[in-house]
Amino acid sequence: MKPAVVLRCPICDAVRALGGRRNEYSKQKLSSQAETHLRGHDLDEPKVAIRKYGIVSDATEIVVPSESHRRLPTKEWTGRDDTWLPDGALSGGERSQSASTSSVEVSSL
Ligand SMILES: [Zn+2]
Repeated sequence: MKPAVVLRCPICDAVRALGGRRNEYSKQKLSSQAETHLRGHDLDEPKVAIRKYGIVSDATEIVVPSESHRRLPTKEWTGRDDTWLPDGALSGGERSQSASTSSVEVSSL
């Protein structure tokens, strides 16, 4: 079993995994990971700061079997639906879900 830290972007729902335990990463390190991604969202500085804080405070430590570890999106930010995460890896966001965009659109074709 191997530990990893999962970050999630509240804007586009992309996820990023970092190998290791959460306490191995300073807040600054996690912030810079978040910021790198947020730069792609064309936000102004205050919004980047707010989102960055949210991503860091929602960072979740998970432990996965070694053979599953390489399936995690450890190299880059990846769309939530395009990668694998264990069940319950992102259960921390109950607080402010209604504040985010209405990304749940069911198209019944
Ligand atoms: Zn994003």
